[in-house]
Amino acid sequence: MIMKKTVALMILVSFISIAGESQDYWTTEIISIEKDYKIEKKLREMNLDFLMEWNDRVYIIVNHDELQTIEKENILFTLETQNLYPQSQKITIQSGVNGEYHSYSELEQELLTLQDSYPNLARVFDIGDSLEQRNIYALKISDNVNQDENEAEVAFLGCHHAREWISVEVPFLLGKYLVENYNSNSKIKELVDSSEIWIVPLVNPDGLEYSIHFYRYWRKNRRDNGDGSYGVDLNRNYGYMWGYDNKGSSPNPSDVTYRGKSAFSEPETQVIRDLFSLRSFQAMITYHNYSQIIIYPWGYTRLLTEKDDLFFEMSADMSELIQSVNGNFYDYGPAGVDLYLTNGDTTDWTFGTYGIPSFTIELPPIDIPHGGFFNSEGDIQPIFNENLPAMLYLIEWSIDDFEAQSNLPEKRKPKFKSKDQSAGEGRGNNR
Ligand SMILES: [Zn+2]
Repeated sequence: MIMKKTVALMILVSFISIAGESQDYWTTEIISIEKDYKIEKKLREMNLDFLMEWNDRVYIIVNHDELQTIEKENILFTLETQNLYPQSQKITIQSGVNGEYHSYSELEQELLTLQDSYPNLARVFDIGDSLEQRNIYALKISDNVNQDENEAEVAFLGCHHAREWISVEVPFLLGKYLVENYNSNSKIKELVDSSEIWIVPLVNPDGLEYSIHFYRYWRKNRRDNGDGSYGVDLNRNYGYMWGYDNKGSSPNPSDVTYRGKSAFSEPETQVIRDLFSLRSFQAMITYHNYSQIIIYPWGYTRLLTEKDDLFFEMSADMSELIQSVNGNFYDYGPAGVDLYLTNGDTTDWTFGTYGIPSFTIELPPIDIPHGGFFNSEGDIQPIFNENLPAMLYLIEWSIDDFEAQSNLPEKRKPKFKSKDQSAGEGRGNNR
């Protein structure tokens, strides 16, 4: 028994050492079932990877397809992956399936409540439908919110990936914070008066619902790929350098980074594409978790963009602001260099198409031993709190950038301009 457990721990340690969104980790789960001869026989016939027996339960490593088969067979199982990580005991979801985290309908309700409570500052737009016909909502925050004013525009997106629940909460809470503090905080009033802030907290509602009710580790949308597999990775489906290689995205439908049949094949990415073509954003952040990292284009290549000095400076500023709140350090750098190659992701497309500063912020925790895709309910507010100053920074940067561009003669308008461009010039890539 002890021997077997040692083997299990060795396997677990090898999972833990794998980077945040590695494929090996995604495709593998540990489940346990009650020790029962008949069920075990059935599972043995499926050629599953048996890990150990412990306290009258059988522990098995399964990939996603195998898990679906087990679900179809109506075999009762417990998902053990997170339970087996040594530091995961503090992870709690106290109330209900998704606890304090928003489901699709809970978010919908809260967005509409914000609009009702602050009709001059908050407006909810249904900007399109998901594959399963759920509404994708954008929350616009501005003074005179019902008018389209000539102001700086900035976008915050959340939850391209279903299991990254905290990525819904952070952008949503920004909207809530701005309207609730508008009257009491002159700085917030100034920002809201001078900009139009567009928040899409839930880009992948179908995936989130699936993650809440069926399979916590679900990542993609719910596209039926027609070969028995489901889901397109929405953060590989955007139309800039889509499908550039098979490292940064996968051509195989059953893979977790499947990029879809074509660029923008998915209604969810089409909705974001259309929002960006209708608006004129100065800058954007899209939230994911986990890793505690701020990354920016390019993702498809290790080459740097021509705006690397500016992006480096902005992400350094944001990292410092985040760290000043709870002391948590978020590393930063170009995505392809700092994390791993991705193609067809959101920020390559927004920068490649519109030339705007575009950031992916991978929220806490920092790694799998600290919870991986799971955060406690109690973490929601502290994670929002530490990210708030960076969000306000991006809004302020957008306002400054908008005003700087408006003051330039038409012909000389650059695509965008650093608030303090001279500081970035002449400096090498010092990292
Ligand atoms: Zn993600």
